[in-house]
This record gives sequence, C-alpha cells and structure tokens, in this order.
Amino acid sequence: MPAKRLDGKSCAADLEERLKVRISKCESQPHLAVVIVGDDPASHVYVKNKILSCERLGIKSTHIELSAETTQEEVAETIVSLNNDPTLHGILIQSPLPSHMDEESLTDLIDPRKDVDGFHPTNLGRIVQGRLDGMIPCTPAGVMEMLRWADVEMAGKKAVVIGRSFNVGMPQALLLAARGADSTVTIVHSKTVDAKAECLGADIVIAAVGRPEMVKQDWIKPGAVVIDVGINRVDDDTRERGWRLAGDVHPDVEQVASLLSPVPGGVGPMTVAMLMANTVTAAEAQHS
Ligand code: NAP
Repeated sequence: MPAKRLDGKSCAADLEERLKVRISKCESQPHLAVVIVGDDPASHVYVKNKILSCERLGIKSTHIELSAETTQEEVAETIVSLNNDPTLHGILIQSPLPSHMDEESLTDLIDPRKDVDGFHPTNLGRIVQGRLDGMIPCTPAGVMEMLRWADVEMAGKKAVVIGRSFNVGMPQALLLAARGADSTVTIVHSKTVDAKAECLGADIVIAAVGRPEMVKQDWIKPGAVVIDVGINRVDDDTRERGWRLAGDVHPDVEQVASLLSPVPGGVGPMTVAMLMANTVTAAEAQHS
C-alpha cells in the first residue's frame, strides 16, 4: 500500500490558526525584520513568501534590501541598529550572503532574543542543554511539529538523520534525541561507510542532504516514516521551464514507507510557519 502523504501545508495551516490566537493576545503586534543582501533570485522568492506569511497572520514585517556590494561592516551596523530597535522582535538575515561576507560572525551579532532563525550559538547551545522553549532552527522544528501532528511514535524508535549541517541535520538529531521525543538517533554524513544499511535499520528517516533522490526505495524498511527536507532543482526537458524540484528522497519510496512528506508541499511550508512561530515566541518573551 502506498505511503500516506505527510502534508506540510495542512500542518502549517493548523499551526497558523494557533498562532493567530497567540498574536491576538500579544501586548503589541509581533514585528519581524527581514534583511536580504544581493540579488539571488531564489532568496528573493523565499523572502517574499515569508513576508506574505507575516501579512496573512497579522505580523508586521520590515523588509530591508541591501545591494550585493554592501560591506560586511555595513551589514553589521544594520544588525546592531535592529538589535537596538525596541519595536522589533525578530531579525532574519536571508542566507546565502554574498561570498565576500562572513555569515557566521554576522549571525553572532544578532541579539539571541531576536534570532528567529535560531542560528545564534546561544540558541543552538540551549538545544544541547535540552531547553526547547526558545528559538529553535525553523526547519528541524518544523519536522518535529509534523511528526507530532501526524502522531508518529518517536519514543524508543530508531531515527536516522542524513546530514549534519548546523541549520538542519545537527539540531534535527538533537531534537529527536531530546527528552520528550526520546528517539535513538544515528547521524549519517558524507563519510558514513554504508548510508543505505543505516537507513534500512531505521523507523524514522529524515533526509537533509541536498542530493536529488539519493534515498532509494531499497534503503527504507517497510512501514518506516520518511521526511524529505531536500529541495533540489533538477533539469527536466518535459517541463516548459526546463526544470523541476526534487527532494532528497526518490518518489518510489512511497511504495514502502508508511508516511512520506512530499516535495514541494512538505517541510517547506513548515519552515516558514516555524519562522512565524519563533517571531511570536520572541514577541511574547520580550513583553514578559
Ligand atoms: P548542507 O549544509 O549542504 O549539508 C548537507 C549535509 O549532507 C552535510 O552534512 C553532508 O555531509 C551531507 N552529505 C552530503 N553528501 C552526502 C552523502 N553522499 N551521503 C551522506 N551525507 C551526505 O545542506 P543543508 O543546508 O543541511 O540542506 C540540506 C537539504 O535541505 C538541501 O537540499 C536544502 O536545499 C534543503 N533545505 C530545505 C529546507 C526547507 O525548508 N525544506 C530548509 C533548509 C534546507 P558532510 O557534513 O560530511 O559534508
């Protein structure tokens, strides 16, 4: 029997309804600043989606566009002035930044209370401590929300996370292993000897690799839950635009999995919804 589709759009819509209630109780309207540097077309699409989400929910957004020639110092000054603006609750610096910039040191400058991406070392470190009430990176937080929404049993289950990036794979593994989720977690990365064998032993597989359709049907134990984080653009002559979006998981996996998140329409909408959730959490915390 084909896998049930783990519908990120519906899960995000449910979360948005709960956020609207929280927003209506906020002392002042939650306010997010989105900073984009340069003219990467995909980044502009992502930023537009985030601003549309803010509008839908009644979150105020301020959009700051800086040219690709902006210096590191100028971006740093922008961040400091946003940190000091008491009317702003969240700051997001759209990634990737132009190659002449040191993204890590700019992230370090963001006030951790306003770090709605959850990438500041203080916020990543809090996850290691098991303090999950703050700013958690949006993509892994969205995956956890989807798993809970679909009533996936995680306690005592074997989970494999493919990928160990600071923004997705590593926090994902920590969240699955944290008290309350209680999975037993293996992290697969580019030096793993046999990724297929690791996946075959798993009840839950989260693929965050950036390699189109790498996870094949024969990698997955029958009945396992599979979450596809990957977003890859692949050539496709059958499409008018010449390309299509592919996940990190081959679509045939639906023949063996019990639940599979689609691409698009899976983790993507959840990532944006969790950004909204972090902004609301930041506004609540800054008023308390
Ligand atoms: P990343 O920083 O490039 O990390 C990729 C990870 O995959 C690395 O840890 C790498 O291992 C590992 N890897 C690469 N090749 C591998 C292989 N052959 N076998 C096993 N592991 C391998 O990417 P990312 O930012 O985590 O993103 C991963 C994917 O998720 C991308 O497709 C990205 O577009 C997508 N994404 C989606 C969302 C969303 O909202 N849906 C959000 C963020 C990212 P090493 O550490 O050993 O190099």
